[in-house]
Amino acid sequence: TIPMLTIDGPSGSGKGTISLHVARELGWRLLDSGVLYRAVGWVVNQEGIDPADHAAVTACAQRTRIEFVAADDGSEVRVLVNDEDLGSQLRTEVAGKYASAIAAIPGVREALLQLQLSLRQAPGLVADGRDMGTVVFPDAPFKVFLTASVAERAARRYKQLREKGVEVKLEALQQDLEARDARDTSRAVAPLKPAEGAVVVDTTGLSIDKVVAKVLAVVRG
Ligand code: C5P
Repeated sequence: TIPMLTIDGPSGSGKGTISLHVARELGWRLLDSGVLYRAVGWVVNQEGIDPADHAAVTACAQRTRIEFVAADDGSEVRVLVNDEDLGSQLRTEVAGKYASAIAAIPGVREALLQLQLSLRQAPGLVADGRDMGTVVFPDAPFKVFLTASVAERAARRYKQLREKGVEVKLEALQQDLEARDARDTSRAVAPLKPAEGAVVVDTTGLSIDKVVAKVLAVVRG
């Protein structure tokens, strides 16, 4: 079987950044599973579908075409949603909120499963999300659960957004983060929690390099 590493954890735990660095270091492919939920949430919103209408949202997830396209130099992956490159629109806090709302619907998760499984390709895969180690790739040989204090996670998001020129308030950001975590942790399907056998890494106060080293040690021993 193809080797892989799952990296799960709450919003702002550094999963995205760490997964990117670790995948580069290992020379493995990268799956940012959050983008799938963000894509569906975005289409649901765009089409004016009621997020509470589970059948309609599930049907939307089933017909939404999501494609990962590697850039010419192989470094960045673009995401095409129904042939449209949504760019950074998927990365906004609003998109994250929609994503979290529709991610609690079992049919949506079901609809996105095959695509995720199909991305486990040689030479290996680093998969980042909430349920990578618990539901999608339970047989993964390497599993990590990243955490950090909520204050630190909010501060990181704040810095990221400010660097991109997005105006946000730290307090509101932390509240949104806590609300999203509470929803992701308490939902009935694929709730956010460490997978069995996952190595829990608390990244509070740690530099990116330190965390990358800890995660690489899980794979390389
Ligand atoms: O990781 P990211 O912030 O992009 O994820 C957005 C939302 O998508 C999360 O808050 C979560 O509700 C959902 N998600 C999920 N399962 C995953 C990845 C993301 O439910 N594997």
